[in-house]
Amino acid sequence: MSLRILLIGNGGREHALAWKLGQSPNVECIIVVPGNGGTAALPKATNNSAVAADDYPALVQLALKERINLVVPGPEAPLVDGIEGFFRNARIPCFGPSKEAARMEGSKTFSKDFMKKHSIPTAAFENFSDYEPASQYLKTISHNVVIKATGLAAGKGVIIPQTLDEAQQALKDIMLDKAFGDAGDEVVIEEFLAGDELSILSFCDGTTIRSLPAAQDHKRIGDGDTGLNTGGMGCYAPTKIATPALIAQVEREILQPTIDGMRKDGFPFRGCLFTGLMITPDGPKCLEYNVRFGDPETQTVLPLLESDLADIMVSCVSASPLLKYVPFKLQQRFSATVVVSAPGYPSSYPKNIPMQVALPPSGTTIFHAGTKLSGDSLLSAGGRVIAANAVGETLRAAVDKAYEGVKLIQFEGMHYRKDIAYRAFRDEKAADKLTYAQ
Ligand code: AMP
Repeated sequence: MSLRILLIGNGGREHALAWKLGQSPNVECIIVVPGNGGTAALPKATNNSAVAADDYPALVQLALKERINLVVPGPEAPLVDGIEGFFRNARIPCFGPSKEAARMEGSKTFSKDFMKKHSIPTAAFENFSDYEPASQYLKTISHNVVIKATGLAAGKGVIIPQTLDEAQQALKDIMLDKAFGDAGDEVVIEEFLAGDELSILSFCDGTTIRSLPAAQDHKRIGDGDTGLNTGGMGCYAPTKIATPALIAQVEREILQPTIDGMRKDGFPFRGCLFTGLMITPDGPKCLEYNVRFGDPETQTVLPLLESDLADIMVSCVSASPLLKYVPFKLQQRFSATVVVSAPGYPSSYPKNIPMQVALPPSGTTIFHAGTKLSGDSLLSAGGRVIAANAVGETLRAAVDKAYEGVKLIQFEGMHYRKDIAYRAFRDEKAADKLTYAQ
């Protein structure tokens, strides 16, 4: 098998995917549309910004011309738009769900109804498409709520109000003032759940799932989870609470019923399913689905995958489900990622800041996100600019090594959180001794 891959996207996630795919002896080349400064430097990859990442017919033409035999869309927007169908019509395998299956991320009201139908544990909820009944409903419930705009809102459509007034205001903002545009045509009002959060990325071929180690992201810009929400400032895996027993329960009660339910409902899932979970005193509950790899989860968990990513992807999209026959081996180690952002992010921030990045030692990887090459110079080109990942025998070793990796990166005004994985260490007297077996 000689794979010619078209990878779509320009973030840290796509750099990590290209990095891991490039390690496969079966991969001949990877064309990244549009890519970033990191993908530009990978031996088997080339960036292509001549074709727009959202011009699907033009992407199909590019794929035909370049004899592409595997397409990997990174972000959610093309999947929700139905990019998979464009390539299916051209008979080019696409590692990603159909438009129908991508509704699991594209519509929160749809995914909540799906969870209810298939008895998948989740927060109690009601869906609304009109403002008045939603506002009346808020007055009748006693528990704390979370209000979610149904559609894609760049990670901003979930509001956790502290008071009833704030809840009513959020409802007005979303449904009447259209703070998130059409994404707020419908809302989910659901029960607030307290607990520990974790994310699981699972490969799926429509029938079988193979999950990567559970990861924990850090959404806020500041240490101690303070300040504004971001795309994700750091991540570690596996999380301490993700014991083998808990993961088995999540697979039994949530992941497998999800894949089985989608197949039975006529829209089987092929690709990477990202499940957001809250581990509550009543057990794990599903918060949401994403229909693609997470960022920065991907940069964190792919370094723990020992097996060939290209083989796994091909097995997921072959005519008959083959995932269960493909080697799937994980390293029994820890991984941590520290994201470095531009000054001012997530509010407005400058671009084109000159950067220097020194070569990392073995076991540490620098994943680019918002960077670009201009001649021989590396410049910043986004809010989340670059990240350092490291793998270690203990969580402490992985985190310390990732922070050593950050020292290899230099640009003016760079910001990063100093406390990645603090929740794992907080109540842990012997944090530095936390090993895989514990
Ligand atoms: P979602 O996009 O639905 O995962 O929501 C984004 C974030 O909001 C999650 O990662 C959680 O931190 C938080 N969240 C969502 N739903 C709930 C809930 N029912 N209870 C508590 N926090 C929630």
